[in-house]
Amino acid sequence: MHAERVGEAPQGPAYHLITFGCQMNQHDSEVMGGMLEAMGYRPVDTPEQADLVLINTCCVRGSAEERAYGRIGQLKALKEKRPGLVLAVAGCMVQQDGAARALLDRHPHVDLVLGTFDLPRLPELVARAAAGERVEAVSPGPVSVEAREGLPAARAPGVRAWVNITYGCDNLCSYCVVPLVRGPQRSRRLGDIVCEVEGLVERGFKEVTLLGQNVNAYGRDLPGSPGLADLLTRLNRVPGLLRIRFTTSHPRDFTPKLVEAIAGLDKVCEHFHLPAQAGSNRVLALMNRGYDREHYLSLVAHIRRVMPLAGVTTDLMVGFPGEGEEDFQDTLDLVRRAEFDAAFTFIYSPRPRTPAAGLEGQVPHEVKQERLERLMAVQYPISLARNQALVGSEVEVLVEGPSA
Ligand code: SAH
Ligand code: SF4
Repeated sequence: MHAERVGEAPQGPAYHLITFGCQMNQHDSEVMGGMLEAMGYRPVDTPEQADLVLINTCCVRGSAEERAYGRIGQLKALKEKRPGLVLAVAGCMVQQDGAARALLDRHPHVDLVLGTFDLPRLPELVARAAAGERVEAVSPGPVSVEAREGLPAARAPGVRAWVNITYGCDNLCSYCVVPLVRGPQRSRRLGDIVCEVEGLVERGFKEVTLLGQNVNAYGRDLPGSPGLADLLTRLNRVPGLLRIRFTTSHPRDFTPKLVEAIAGLDKVCEHFHLPAQAGSNRVLALMNRGYDREHYLSLVAHIRRVMPLAGVTTDLMVGFPGEGEEDFQDTLDLVRRAEFDAAFTFIYSPRPRTPAAGLEGQVPHEVKQERLERLMAVQYPISLARNQALVGSEVEVLVEGPSA
């Protein structure tokens, strides 16, 4: 099913999209695919079959960048064989200061570089690159929310769809590059989000995941300051929609009131992705997260009190500058107390132009690696036990299709 494929033209030029990074980037790729299909391009499964290869990059950690550069390097041979192939690189990695210029200088086989704020201009830029021009399009400022409204999307087939509710982020977590490459928070208007979700339901989607870097701050920048609870309450009334999810919650802005509101909304899934990042108050302060471990644990306790069956997942980082063994023990302790259903665990990666990259006490790689393994060794049995506790219980499921 290609519910949102627009202007499919089997004879048209072909595109192949390669995406790195988070759900927001995955959805940006769907939008870029939708715009290409509206131009008459059709999707193909391999770069070899394509007239245009577009790589949508991530730079949240050094490893994501290395993978993207590796992929760009691999495509050099193909470009030499087929000089007519257009190779485009988009997304967060090229939005970093000076990165686009450096990429074009070092990789002569790249034809088009497109920053995060230039996504709505993709059709014009691709047309120029296809006509033989080398194009660098990286605007410094944020794109207005309006410029992104109504763009087509070639969504992944199935019953679940991603829907942006905010772009950018106003927080300044000291390790994080996201605000630098995605700009300040801009919320979409509540009515526009409802309209998109209604359209998705008409096209057969059953579940939406609302996306934002800090969904708990949704609406702060809008007239009348609607909040996430207002949005969820309104979406809960959309006929035919079965499930609503949202991510990512920020512990500083997450209010106990939201838990009560969600408990009364039957379509909103009982799942909270609430990144803790660390369990040491000293490290949390250095990270500029705006909460301490006590506040974090009180939120988890509140969720479990109001919704005993709710799933709670998290992101955790090891090896932040200055993290000593005692701080790391605090993270392990938080993990044991919070009893997460699952945790995404990361090794701290210094990112250019972030305050944490300049801090003293950078932790050696072997120590980070060893802490990551110890952290996973504590979390895995907890995940297993929480899953095992569900054995024999009756739960509501959403059938996505036959299993492969
Ligand atoms: N907005 C979300 C997170 C977006 S980035 C939030 O605040 O929770 C996703 C995850 O990547 C983060 O939660 C963090 O755990 C991790 N991350 C971000 N920057 C990182 C860095 N420099 N090194 C390692 N992990 C990082
Ligand atoms: Fe990065 Fe913090 Fe914003 Fe998340 S809330 S995107 S970690 S700055």
